[in-house]
Amino acid sequence: MIGVSKQLKIALDIDGVLADSMMLWTRVFNQTYSRHLTTSQMGTWNFWSELGLTRRQFQEIFTKIWEDWTHLPPTEPEISEKVRRLSQYGGIDIVTGRTEDTAEYAEKWLSMQKVPYGKLYLMPGNTTKLDSGHDIYVDDSPLIASEAPVVQRKILLYNQPWNRCVRNNHYVTRVSSLDDAATVLSSISNKPRE
Ligand SMILES: [Mg+2]
Repeated sequence: MIGVSKQLKIALDIDGVLADSMMLWTRVFNQTYSRHLTTSQMGTWNFWSELGLTRRQFQEIFTKIWEDWTHLPPTEPEISEKVRRLSQYGGIDIVTGRTEDTAEYAEKWLSMQKVPYGKLYLMPGNTTKLDSGHDIYVDDSPLIASEAPVVQRKILLYNQPWNRCVRNNHYVTRVSSLDDAATVLSSISNKPRE
């Protein structure tokens, strides 16, 4: 149970929640491999393996799009204001699973987008984000969603094609936008929406 008296610690993911990385990933993939993939066709977390790519090939494109971070669009317009609205329900940290080579770009991107946050947690590939010690995670990963009940953490699962197979449960609530996440946080924290 999350007590209403204590400030919630909220973890916000970057890729697929704040940054529309996969849109750009798809564009670079299509240019590189002469394909016509759309993000709506990415029906699973490991969609890249279904495309015949190795993890390394997936990662190479991912690194490339983050090197071009100034052209990486946010998932939603007015992302800065929407994150600020979430912060009325608790302390916002950014918790992102990524390799070191794109960490600096991610930080610059957050700054360019004026995303307000406390700390940036870079979680290495061999750990789970849920080790970061937050109460609530806003994330698009179906893997995080499957781990949530085990460690009794609440996930607001940001709607994406690659997590559509995940069902809501006591720990997992699907949200279609950051404002939708604000509505859920409002009911959890017992504070009315702005
Ligand atoms: Mg993500």
